[in-house]
Amino acid sequence: MRENIDGHTLLIGLMAYPIRHSLSPKMQNIVYSKLNIPYVYLAFEVTAEKLPDAIKGMRALGMRGSAVSMPNKQLVCRYLDKLTPAVELIGACNTISNDDGVLTGYNTDGMGYMRSLKEAGIDVIGKKMTLLGAGGAATAIAVQAALDGVKEIAIFNKKDDFYPKAQEIAERINQKTNCKVKLFDLDDSQALRREIAESYLLNNGTSVGMKPLEGQSIITDTSMFHSNLVVTDCIYMPRKTKFLELAESQGCRILNGIGMMLWQGAAQIKIWTGQETPIDYVKEKMGFND
Ligand code: NAD
Repeated sequence: MRENIDGHTLLIGLMAYPIRHSLSPKMQNIVYSKLNIPYVYLAFEVTAEKLPDAIKGMRALGMRGSAVSMPNKQLVCRYLDKLTPAVELIGACNTISNDDGVLTGYNTDGMGYMRSLKEAGIDVIGKKMTLLGAGGAATAIAVQAALDGVKEIAIFNKKDDFYPKAQEIAERINQKTNCKVKLFDLDDSQALRREIAESYLLNNGTSVGMKPLEGQSIITDTSMFHSNLVVTDCIYMPRKTKFLELAESQGCRILNGIGMMLWQGAAQIKIWTGQETPIDYVKEKMGFND
């Protein structure tokens, strides 16, 4: 790939801290090589303190764009020229596109999740879903699902710091979209049972199930699952969480977070290049086919 780099090659960044563990540089560069796109994608350790200078640098260097991850997803919004309606609702951005000096903020996490459902033949549009969690990933999913036409979303979160923020987001979604969103305390097991029973799809958007909580499930009472329920997990490491394992044992269709991860990257590539990602090729090259 390095042989293809010349004076016309454009730079895409990833601004986050810590970030050296990220799979995105590998995935993105595989696609640019395969499609012969003259871009190179590099990860930069950018703390919140360094973010304003990094954005100035992005403008000065004429970078084509940048991905943004923690701790910068919310903070970055104030340094951009335009935000998509999804970013306005979520209050967080994971993708910047630099179009002739105009920086637009997008959020592709929810787009990636919704696309992964579509690609798996799961149609939640016009239906009800239950969403466990109200952090970054779950919020992006709730907003995109509402914008895409999901009819009703029941969000469950424990009464931690995320809860009041989730209340605000739920109110915003109810005001700005046709979707009806309700927030519940995760400890309210009666409400949880009722909402899941009425849902077509149940998603785990909490970090319960991955390290250091690997082996744990956000739902332990398997009688909450019904066989018509589609059960998804944002987690992709491990591939099959305890949550998915329990759901599968009750006859539910299950889907892990690999598709969400790959399709959110594909959505970024579409924004930066206008091109579709050859996802099967990426899966094979990244070793995600097992
Ligand atoms: P976050 O820190 O923003 O949110 C964490 C969420 O988990 C909150 O809702 C919090 O209340 C909940 N939570 C944490 N510990 C809990 C516990 N013990 N019991 C109940 N709830 C608990 O994190 P995030 O960025 O939203 O990530 C959440 C999960 O989604 C992670 O596992 C992450 O790996 C995964 N994720 C996957 C993708 C993907 O592309 N597949 C993208 C982003 C995040």
